[in-house]
Amino acid sequence: GAGGLALLGLALGAPSCPHGPALLFVKTSQGREEGRRFYACSACRDRKDCNFFQWEDEKVSETRLAAREEYNRNHRPPFTHRQNVERYKKFVLLPLPKRRFCQECQQLLLPAEWEKHSDHQFLCDISTAQLKSPSQLLYPLENKKTNAQYLFAGRSCQFLLDLIIGLGFRRVLSVGTPRLHEMIQSKASQEDFRVRSLLLDIDFRYSQFYAEDEFCHYNMFNHYFFGGEAAHETCRKFLHQDNGERVIMITDPPFGGLVEALASSFKKLMAMWEEAEKEDHNNQEMPVFWIFPYFFESRILEFFPSFTMMDYQVDYDNHALYKHGKTGRRQSPVRIFTNLTPSMIVLPVEEGYRFCALCQRYVSSGNQHCEICDSCTSKDGRQWKHCVLCNKCVKPSWFHCNNCNCCALPNHACERTDAGCFVCGKAGHKRSTCPSLS
Ligand code: SAH
Ligand code: ZN
Ligand code: ZN
Ligand code: ZN
Ligand code: ZN
Repeated sequence: GAGGLALLGLALGAPSCPHGPALLFVKTSQGREEGRRFYACSACRDRKDCNFFQWEDEKVSETRLAAREEYNRNHRPPFTHRQNVERYKKFVLLPLPKRRFCQECQQLLLPAEWEKHSDHQFLCDISTAQLKSPSQLLYPLENKKTNAQYLFAGRSCQFLLDLIIGLGFRRVLSVGTPRLHEMIQSKASQEDFRVRSLLLDIDFRYSQFYAEDEFCHYNMFNHYFFGGEAAHETCRKFLHQDNGERVIMITDPPFGGLVEALASSFKKLMAMWEEAEKEDHNNQEMPVFWIFPYFFESRILEFFPSFTMMDYQVDYDNHALYKHGKTGRRQSPVRIFTNLTPSMIVLPVEEGYRFCALCQRYVSSGNQHCEICDSCTSKDGRQWKHCVLCNKCVKPSWFHCNNCNCCALPNHACERTDAGCFVCGKAGHKRSTCPSLS
């Protein structure tokens, strides 16, 4: 944009906050770097959640370094993953009336700990079924900027699982998809079900419910395994089983941006898979479903040119981005981006999706094949229309504007800073603030 922040990425020797190595940023103006570079927390974009900040060229005193280390240590979770696994083993041996979950601390309680939480709200009689669906037991984190958790609606989660099974996958690397993970885990206890999942997520609450080979505390913005080399190795092993065959990575990151940081982590996970038995892969990529809003399509394709966006609308239980379409059906802007051959992704016909033989992929019911573009061009599910002047299809509500020389909403302001001022043609200001007018 005109002014903003640019991410420079993970730098060697970057300082760490409680969320792992910080990322390097720089302020920009008109697409140019401006001012000093600085480090900030990779995971939290709200200063209230993590206020880590350091200039790139700043000299940090020994005292401050020590204080920072101390701070990072103090911000570790109260129990390690291993301790949580031990606690879980004790917990499941308790009779139902003694199984309590503290809602304030979001923690399973052992009887000796009841006292400490006596002022807290708690749930009792935690059943085995509840332990198997932690995403229902834990409240979804709601911090908008940092860690909003949007859980798949049952229908979408089941669709994803059926799709994975239908495609023959046996292992799922679930990156930020706790609900999909738990659906797989609870089915895994059934005899004839052979799909396994490893959850990578920054939400450490999940470590209370899963063993160390089922969950890794992971930050997907800096590819950081909080559990160190051992956790790294867990992930590597998981990807390398059976020569790395039949494994897919499914991720549903927070939509807050930083696409390049996500892409760089996903590339590292894909590279980890590639280290497995090479001969069979023939330079193939690890199969991926990246679940993200359709308006990030060009950003994602920038980093992953082999990806295609599918028309399937992913639905959530608690999503603020829902819109009610004209049909009364909820329209979700969230899609699946994948490097698998599009024709293999079969979308449910009973929900209106149909196969376009020309595009060789399933498309939503409103998506018409445009003969000029030679493709089904709708991104949002509505029928788009072709503009001969723009030489592409545009949203149904747009019209061609001769001033702007492109299609736009009828009430748009005819001003685009990046295209230069409409009055003098120079970049950097809009026509309302054009110096030549004063
Ligand atoms: N639809 C998914 C949940 C997606 S919400 C499902 O139902 O399973 C985004 C998920 O990403 C949450 O589980 C959240 O804890 C996780 N997350 C958020 N920030 C993260 C980060 N920096 N690293 C790893 N996981 C993160
Ligand atoms: Zn408590
Ligand atoms: Zn088509
Ligand atoms: Zn067209
Ligand atoms: Zn046009």
